[in-house]
Amino acid sequence: MTKSGAAANLTDPGKTKSVVIVGGGTAGWMTAAYLKAAFGDRIDVTVVESAHIGSIGVGEATFSDIRHFFEFLRLEESDWMPACNATYKLGVRFEDWREPGHHFYHPFEQLGSVDGFPLSDWWLRMPQSSRFDRDCFVMAALCDAERSPRYADGTPLAQGVFENVGGGQSARSNIAEYQGAQFPYAYHFEAHLLAKFLTKYGTDRGVKHITDNVVDVALDEQGFVSHVDTAENGRLSGDLYIDCTGFRALLLKQALGEPFVSFQDTLPNNSAVALQVPMDMERKAIRPCTTATAQDAGWIWTIPLISRIGTGYVYADEYLSAEDAEKTLREFVGPEAADIPANHIKMRIGRSERSWVKNVVGIGLAAGFVEPLESTGIFFIHHAIEQIVRYFPGGRDDDVRRDAFNRSIEHVMEGVREFLCLHYVGAKRADNQYWKDTKTRKIPDALAERIEIWKHKVPDSESVYPYYHGLPPYSYNCILLGAGGIEVKHSPALDLADPTAAQVEFDRIRLKADKLVQELPSQNEFFAAMRAN
Ligand code: FAD
Repeated sequence: MTKSGAAANLTDPGKTKSVVIVGGGTAGWMTAAYLKAAFGDRIDVTVVESAHIGSIGVGEATFSDIRHFFEFLRLEESDWMPACNATYKLGVRFEDWREPGHHFYHPFEQLGSVDGFPLSDWWLRMPQSSRFDRDCFVMAALCDAERSPRYADGTPLAQGVFENVGGGQSARSNIAEYQGAQFPYAYHFEAHLLAKFLTKYGTDRGVKHITDNVVDVALDEQGFVSHVDTAENGRLSGDLYIDCTGFRALLLKQALGEPFVSFQDTLPNNSAVALQVPMDMERKAIRPCTTATAQDAGWIWTIPLISRIGTGYVYADEYLSAEDAEKTLREFVGPEAADIPANHIKMRIGRSERSWVKNVVGIGLAAGFVEPLESTGIFFIHHAIEQIVRYFPGGRDDDVRRDAFNRSIEHVMEGVREFLCLHYVGAKRADNQYWKDTKTRKIPDALAERIEIWKHKVPDSESVYPYYHGLPPYSYNCILLGAGGIEVKHSPALDLADPTAAQVEFDRIRLKADKLVQELPSQNEFFAAMRAN
């Protein structure tokens, strides 16, 4: 890092006209494409990316909100999905978190409520089976039966399948505080292919693309970045710099020295080993969900893509060596993994204290990362991009906007941290030191207080993390009642209430699930029909 006397242009409100994005992974290109879609030619966007420093791309799963990103770019699924080997995801399937052989889902489906009580509360009072997810959500049956969320003619499942159950005739059932239709699916795709696809999208719309290494970051007398130096293309300067350099955080951490808030004390998984395993997916069913299978020192993800699976073991190096993690992963995958090179990744778990400092905004891994359980990395990127457009800097004295942006990023990451901690402390599994420690390890104080409440009243909007972080109350119900390590009681009021309407609701869900399992094609059938057209 060098000091420079040259002032950045960011002195005049409303004059942020040029943006330099350092890093061309998923974060860099999602940001460039979005800024162009938002501001068109009224803004100059440059992406500089190294040809030598690789990007992360393991086969990623997403949140259903990602559809807003593609909608904003005016892209249809048929435009981008084939280019990214993308498949559909209806939720996350957790295997062996309770005990060997057990599984449950966290689907993209809101939980209903009856007479003002969440269906989860009714389920505790009158379980229909041992499966909370099957009794309360339509989607769990679709995941078990490996259905596509689109009919063979391309028609998607209705938003909020729950509301359509049985035609919504019951006057006594309502969606109450669980309101807000949930888009019923997200995607699995190869993040590096998405970056490649967006490179074309961005450059077609005027993004300047430079392949080079940034070798120095120059600051002016006020500590703002004045320019970056590249190895072969000289000096690049802009009004705003976006740090998308991944875990390196070249601008935010290395040049500006912004402190890092580690989450390691509460979330110890800090390593991963990943494999990209070619598979004949036309013969092997494409599961419409991400699978997270609990292991001795973490968990293994399985993400089905077109023509291969992305898989990897996320673990805490305090409990397991890299060699043993790789060995376990290879055994888990089977003979198909034999000659595939493994990618070992050290993960920086936590967040930059602030994501926006001076005229630098960190997006993606440069700003923070909270291990891939629940697939939040790309959600963080998408959220940060939306927020930077919303709080777009006018000038150097933009403290209010900067603070609001930083608060919003912090809220999202801290909320997700709480949610992930619940998975471990709430898992029944406690058969070795790693899993025993998950029950005694420090968790955020607020989460500990919430868990005490949830033991007596299932999570609702009054008792979950209060700021937006992408996870509604129903998500907490799924983990709490699925993972099974924390005993939850139903509300005493339900012993006195009339259960008729709740029973109607459970029956409707079962009927709707049975109907959809019959009607919907498998993903293989759906993609085959798509290819044929
Ligand atoms: P990177 O991919 O690391 O890209 C960094 C870029 O910066 C590269 O282009 C590099 O060339 C460039 N660069 C670095 N230094 C310089 C320099 N000096 N000069 C020029 N260029 C430079 N997210 C999900 O949403 N779902 C998942 O299922 C998921 N699984 C994951 C599993 C693992 C094990 C990990 C580690 C991450 C996972 N993520 C997941 C996160 C997701 O992969 C990332 O958020 C996403 O790929 C964005 O990465 P990035 O662009 O921030 O960084």
